[in-house]
Amino acid sequence: MSSTTRSALVIGGGIGGPVAAMALHRAGIEATVYEAYASTADGVGGGLGLAPNGLAALDVIGVGDLVREIGTPTTDIVLQSWNGKRLGEFGSPPGVESARFVWRADLYRTLYDEAARRGVRTVHGKRLVAARETAGGVTAHFADGTTAEADVLIGADGIRSTVRALIDPDAPRPHYGGLFSFGAPVKDTGLPSTGGKMYMTFGKRAFLGYQVQDDSSGVWFVNLPHPGPMTVAEAARTSAEDWLRVLAAAFTGDRVPAADLLLRTDPGDLLIAGPMENMPRVPAWSRGRMVLIGDAAHAASSSSGQGASLAVESAVQLARCLRDLPHEEAFTAYQDLRRPRVERIIKEAERTNSNKAAGPVGRVLRDLLLPLVMKLNKPEKSAWQTGYRIDWDASVSATPHPDGTRA
Ligand SMILES: Cc1cc2nc3c(=O)[nH]c(=O)nc-3n(C[C@H](O)[C@H](O)[C@H](O)COP(=O)(O)OP(=O)(O)OC[C@H]3O[C@@H](n4cnc5c(N)ncnc54)[C@H](O)[C@@H]3O)c2cc1C
Repeated sequence: MSSTTRSALVIGGGIGGPVAAMALHRAGIEATVYEAYASTADGVGGGLGLAPNGLAALDVIGVGDLVREIGTPTTDIVLQSWNGKRLGEFGSPPGVESARFVWRADLYRTLYDEAARRGVRTVHGKRLVAARETAGGVTAHFADGTTAEADVLIGADGIRSTVRALIDPDAPRPHYGGLFSFGAPVKDTGLPSTGGKMYMTFGKRAFLGYQVQDDSSGVWFVNLPHPGPMTVAEAARTSAEDWLRVLAAAFTGDRVPAADLLLRTDPGDLLIAGPMENMPRVPAWSRGRMVLIGDAAHAASSSSGQGASLAVESAVQLARCLRDLPHEEAFTAYQDLRRPRVERIIKEAERTNSNKAAGPVGRVLRDLLLPLVMKLNKPEKSAWQTGYRIDWDASVSATPHPDGTRA
């Protein structure tokens, strides 16, 4: 092993941050997480999908089963049009486990607790504002005037990353994608079980996803087109009761059980997940001793079902690269390993988003073409995405092999 990295500052204690810290510990590198918020993020956020590849990346650091326990398995996703027409169905390829639907708050808490149990320190109330390289390391400067030093600094600070702007002041920023997301668990939907399947409907005015368990409890999420950007705080000024009525009204005339799901939701359970944002390609993922992971580097829209999974994959791959190579070479190898994969997934998600926000003509075309596309799209074809596995034990090569691989 030629690694010279002994310590890391992980900026951001969301999903990628604690995973990076645990993976770095496994690689023999000491890591501390610095989170901007003064307190933990319990109860914040909506639901997200964890794909089999994300679960497998968590297995590498021994937390996959903890996450499986808190998730609802989703064997298949059934796509429907507003009139109930089935547009397609897809699940994991043969031999690959099901995806899991998890509440972001539960995922966050599970990773946070496990990282703490393993001795990872998370320091709250530390908003990074600047970073300076020194002869032998990097110093992080926080808004409260304090500093911290280590060999490398990892930006796991999400879609509005400060580290991204420190690496490249001209880096692009996210832009509003025209949809705002809500979700909730429902104790008793009064609906029959969907048999492990999640139904997703392109309504005439909004997009609905829902799954009902055998005991009639369920989960749902809605992507509501909204003309201008709106923050979670702005959305929270409208009462949960009013939002539930607005969301139910958005599906009037659509052949979906939206009224059952939305009007049986306890308003106290409504989760305002936030605006769906698109992030243009980030040209530079690293500079000097700083590097990006997760949404800071490659935010995939939630339509991909891969945002959190790609974040944990990148966290684990980066730790592997830093284990085997000096930081400059590690960062290059990491980008070689990650970029082609994440950019392909992001491109596919962009197509799904344009389907969700389709106008009347787009809707007709989508409903005509999607069944054909889905018919051709056999589960095996998505194996590159969901069947992806990280070989932790393989050492990372400093130079690409002739086929472009690194391990
Ligand atoms: C509050 C919240 C709610 C979310 N809800 C959903 C959801 O409902 N559905 C969904 O699909 N995705 C949601 N996401 C996004 C999802 O978590 C990410 O897409 C994915 O998990 C990738 O994780 P990440 O670690 O890269 O970024 P994130 O999970 O966004 O974590 C980034 C962390 O960095 C912290 N941070 C930001 N700037 C600084 C700074 N300057 N200094 C220190 N810390 C900083 C943030 O407070 C946050 O804790 C949410 C993210 C957040 C922060």
